[in-house]
Amino acid sequence: MNYKHIEEILTDDIAGKVVNIRGWIYRKRRVGKLIFFVLRDSTDIVQCVVDKKTAGAEKFKMLDKVGVESSITLTGTVQKEERAPTGYEVHVQNFEIVGESYNFPIGRDKSDEFLLDNRHLWMRSREMNAILKIRSTVFDALHEFFVENGYYETHGPMFVTGAVEGGSTLFEVPYFGRKAYLTQSSQFYLETLIFSLEKVFTIAPSFRAEKSRTRRHLTEYWHAEAEVAWYHNEDMMRDEERMIVHIIQRVLKDRKKELEMLNRDVEFLKNIDTPFERMKYEKIIEFANEHGLELKYGDDLGADEETFITKHFNAPVFVTHYPQEIKPFYHRPDPDNPRVVLCHDLLAPEGYGEIIGGGERIYKLEVLLRRLEEENLNPDDYFWYVDLRRYGSVPHAGFGLGVERFVWWLAGLDHIKHAIPYPRTIRRLTP
Ligand code: ATP
Ligand code: MG
Repeated sequence: MNYKHIEEILTDDIAGKVVNIRGWIYRKRRVGKLIFFVLRDSTDIVQCVVDKKTAGAEKFKMLDKVGVESSITLTGTVQKEERAPTGYEVHVQNFEIVGESYNFPIGRDKSDEFLLDNRHLWMRSREMNAILKIRSTVFDALHEFFVENGYYETHGPMFVTGAVEGGSTLFEVPYFGRKAYLTQSSQFYLETLIFSLEKVFTIAPSFRAEKSRTRRHLTEYWHAEAEVAWYHNEDMMRDEERMIVHIIQRVLKDRKKELEMLNRDVEFLKNIDTPFERMKYEKIIEFANEHGLELKYGDDLGADEETFITKHFNAPVFVTHYPQEIKPFYHRPDPDNPRVVLCHDLLAPEGYGEIIGGGERIYKLEVLLRRLEEENLNPDDYFWYVDLRRYGSVPHAGFGLGVERFVWWLAGLDHIKHAIPYPRTIRRLTP
């Protein structure tokens, strides 16, 4: 039997023709000797009508009895029908219930917590379906961008022995009588790989034992990271802004329907183009103060500060030249002003905040050793990272994009947990 997807049958060309479709019952009601149900599959929904005479009394009764989310295959004629939710209706000649469903737990007006407890079932919702498709397109467009621009895909290990982003958010795991950690970032490994491949990227999970409860932190997230030999801070930012615009364009082209379903302001996204504004950290502090948020030089920008600041933006903005004290040790100090480092964070507008962290890495051995010492870190723990500066070191830069952070903003979601199928947070480990 040749089945069509619902999306394919919602056209005037198919109207009047007999088709086979299959999926799940999304809504259902009986009106006398007719049963109307809305069928959904991965692509769309369509209204179907079954009349008792065609179906036969017994099958009609069976269909009447089963609940929403029963799976079903059917054969029917497509008809144009203005009043149906997607403009067409299928007059069913024959159907088969494949898997019955009774008392599906998810109905209207369930709390966020309830939906998270039942996320394995909530995945079927129209809303999740739209988010999952956008997410899939983002991964696809990321690969497309990197490969088209000469980056090689590669991978670091997930079990590691050291911190990249600070020890306080490391997850410890037992490792055959030793201690290992789950990786916070593949950056250091990517740095080793540029000495072979020059331009590398990876899309992999990163793990952070985040205790803060914000709208933007998960304990496990997908991290798109890149590292490039011979690049300086500005070179890296140029690739990043092109990458962001490339992905937005792809999503607008292929996922417009889904964005609209989520009530995302599509016009806002259409207007985003390169180059993105660059603002020094110093200027951001001034900007915040001018807009009524009291910050002083040296303060870190957390979720709340960035939410406040980026509500005033209508496109992503790079914030550069942060003070050395509030950034990890590996950032290259600015030769013109060693109090600041050659780094950048990309802040998404509309109150979302940081989606990328990146910058130039220290490439001189003596500078790296000095910075490790200043931060009270033991160079032996980083012996292989230090080695890179011993054997043919080169200037290089890189970045990390939190894929869920990006999807969260792109789809206009209220919390990052909606941007990943199974979110992991301090309180949530199931399903
Ligand atoms: P934040 O200040 O928001 O905690 P960070 O400075 O710790 O972020 P980086 O270490 O620069 O972030 O990580 C690179 C990117 O990874 C961030 O720009 C962000 O997009 C993403 N990211 C970092 N931590 C998380 C997290 N806990 N959950 C989801 N994404 C994250
Ligand atoms: Mg963090």
